[in-house]
Amino acid sequence: MTRRPPAWFEAGLPHIWAPYTQMKIAAPPLPVARTDGVRITLADGRELIDGIASWWTACHGYNHPYIRAAVAKQLEVMPHVMFGGLTHEPALTLARRLAALLPGDLNRVFFTDSGSVAVEVALKMAVQYWLNKGVRGRTKFIAFKGGYHGDTTGAMSVTDPDEGMHKLFAGLLPEQYVLDLPRDDETAAALERFIAVHADKLAGVIVEPLVQGAGGMLMHEAAVLQRLRRLADKYELLLICDEIFTGFGRTGAMFASEDAGVVPDIMCLSKALTGGTMALAATIARDHVFAAFWTDKADQALMHGPTFMANPLACAAANASLDLFEEEPRLAQVEAISQALHEGLAPCRGLPGVKDVRVRGAIGAVELTRIEDIKALKAKFVEEGVWVRPFGNIVYLTPAFTIAADDLARLTGAIVKVLKA
Ligand SMILES: *Cc1c(COP(=O)(O)O)cnc(C)c1O
Repeated sequence: MTRRPPAWFEAGLPHIWAPYTQMKIAAPPLPVARTDGVRITLADGRELIDGIASWWTACHGYNHPYIRAAVAKQLEVMPHVMFGGLTHEPALTLARRLAALLPGDLNRVFFTDSGSVAVEVALKMAVQYWLNKGVRGRTKFIAFKGGYHGDTTGAMSVTDPDEGMHKLFAGLLPEQYVLDLPRDDETAAALERFIAVHADKLAGVIVEPLVQGAGGMLMHEAAVLQRLRRLADKYELLLICDEIFTGFGRTGAMFASEDAGVVPDIMCLSKALTGGTMALAATIARDHVFAAFWTDKADQALMHGPTFMANPLACAAANASLDLFEEEPRLAQVEAISQALHEGLAPCRGLPGVKDVRVRGAIGAVELTRIEDIKALKAKFVEEGVWVRPFGNIVYLTPAFTIAADDLARLTGAIVKVLKA
């Protein structure tokens, strides 16, 4: 890099605190000038092809003109209005459309502004569901190893303890039961024995359906979810599917639980909900869950309400994103990406240090035995002109569904090249 970074970068950097970053030793963040399609243009003019769609959000690529126009139009009319006692067309239209799109009778939508908060709401909803039904003491959750549900306290408590850094926050975090996914008859039997003993303490079960994302792009079969649904039914637990990562086509179907033929009692959505343009999340309940809150008692109302919930700009973006899913062949694009990831990442198999290569929908992951110098690895990808962010032992791609075949080939090619070296 020859050009000096822009003045705003040098002046502002000492005041910013970056996510998951030991700021003393980390490479400084790269200043971005603009985005377009699958490209990130850095302040010094370099272009990176984005392999991860900004943490899995930008499913239609950046700056999609249709979403931009919808947000611009909404900006003229009403950027924001509070959602307590007031409501508006973008939110009600979005709620109606989500209810129609989601499997089963997932009909009642509670909007929030981030995935973690959508999970908090799901947990509170489940606990209060039992209280409203007059059942006391059902306040705990079963969650799964490898799972990730967010960074706020409740969400962290149902995240895999290693991922959630539980050791650091012991005393703050409520204790939950983090168990093995029921991948086969043996683990299913163990899970059932556990549930049978603890059922009267349990409010529900929370799972990322088909792919555990931040825990390492860990994939499981539909049968796992079907077992969970069966156990939840048998022991009357609420099944919460956190589709914040998997929702909106990422795993190949519109929703992973739908693909598995399972209707959760509560679902969480965020990430790609607005096509990667605005912060928005939703917690959606089935009719029987909502029914437990439909009473004459004020204290049986759902006790939550973020200031910026159902922000009209974000809802307009989400409605525009749903239009794109309807009008453009997104799931066929995911299928094509899946094929290309299979083929493009296949040469990684058998490379020294490569433990596994796995693909599901528009998710391709290469698991290494270990990454020695993650900082150097990240820098190499930038040198190759791609934005790929390895974490743990994983190098992965979750590109925009609109990515062109040659750009995708550059991404997989860069991974093969860097891992070979
Ligand atoms: C990203 C993610 C979250 C947290 O969402 P935030 O918007 O970062 O709070 C929760 N669950 C899953 C499965 C996620 O991938």
